Amino acid sequence: TPMLPGSTPVPPRLLRALSEPLLNQRGSSFKALIDDVTDGVKYAYQTNNDVLILPSSGTGGMEAAIVNFLSPGDKVLALSIGAFGDRFATIAQTHGCIVDKVDFPWGAAVDLQVVRERLAADVHKEYKAILVTHNETATGVCNDLQGLGQVRGDHPALILVDSVSALGVMEVKTDEWGLDVIVTAAQKGFLIPPGVCFVSVSPRAWAAYERSTSPKFYWDLGSAKKFLEKGQTPVTPAIPQLAGLREALKLFQEKGLDHIFAKQIYLRDITRAGVKALGLKPLADDAVASAAVTAVWAPAGIEARAINRKMREDYNVVLAGGQKKLENKIFRIGHLGYVQHLDILATIGALEMTLKELGVPIELGSGVKAAQNVIMSRK
Ligand code: PMP
Repeated sequence: TPMLPGSTPVPPRLLRALSEPLLNQRGSSFKALIDDVTDGVKYAYQTNNDVLILPSSGTGGMEAAIVNFLSPGDKVLALSIGAFGDRFATIAQTHGCIVDKVDFPWGAAVDLQVVRERLAADVHKEYKAILVTHNETATGVCNDLQGLGQVRGDHPALILVDSVSALGVMEVKTDEWGLDVIVTAAQKGFLIPPGVCFVSVSPRAWAAYERSTSPKFYWDLGSAKKFLEKGQTPVTPAIPQLAGLREALKLFQEKGLDHIFAKQIYLRDITRAGVKALGLKPLADDAVASAAVTAVWAPAGIEARAINRKMREDYNVVLAGGQKKLENKIFRIGHLGYVQHLDILATIGALEMTLKELGVPIELGSGVKAAQNVIMSRK
């Protein structure tokens, strides 16, 4: 059982769509497909802005956000709460931006008061963009994008969001919250295999695109928009992914976004109740806890690597490990996408046996019981 924060397991219904015969990418059926999925993705983004679908993993979308809306020498405020926040800042730096990076402790969310102060101190309005991670997959912490939109207020900086592990999992009101560019990828909340990413573009962001001098060809979103207007893409599209995506978006429409977000919170709460009852500590406090992934400190004296190995080898449950400075210190239980409540019960049950065998003094059944209580209380 993979319990990873992406790529998500793929529902069988989507696998069938993924294996449909390829369409002619310059034909009318493809036009219908790209129009359909673009509308569906906009629904998931809760936006009327343009959304472009690119053949790439999420990181490509992040690079597209930088090269389309910024120029070398532009000053940006990069807010990092972990490995993916660092990555966004590095991409901006790579493309010649002057990056003012604010690092928050790994396991905490962005402190909006700090952002407020930085923007207030920027009297000449030099910041062209604020870079932020929606859900920091490395730590299981979620940032308050609505709050960030309010703090930005009428400062001209664009808000560029890495929502790779959050869109389709946690609520994002793109337009209402004033988020200019949001990047996500298909292999997380959108339930299909990796290979496509999405980038939304607000009218303000398009104005910045017109000013941008960064070199771009593959990532040129203006070109993607022109082709989309005739139902095509500038380069060969990832046709099977788009067919799978159409089915995934039908599923979204059938279930409704609210249902999906509520289910993800439910899975998060089951997971957190289970690990906490075992005396383990999640990195994230309840108030900022991710609905996509729960990162947990390994108990004192135990290597996280040993927990993950035993989980995999003895119980066939695949967890994620810690990245960068959290390597071997934490393990991460992914619960986004195609995951059910009983997958989590099984994971907690296996975790109990694993910890016990590693000599951690826990009582078998205590985590499972706490998880069951959450399930029963919400029937
Ligand atoms: N940002 C976040 C928050 C992510 O979780 C990931 C993938 N784990 C990425 C960016 C990078 O996406 P990809 O691996 O698809 O390039």
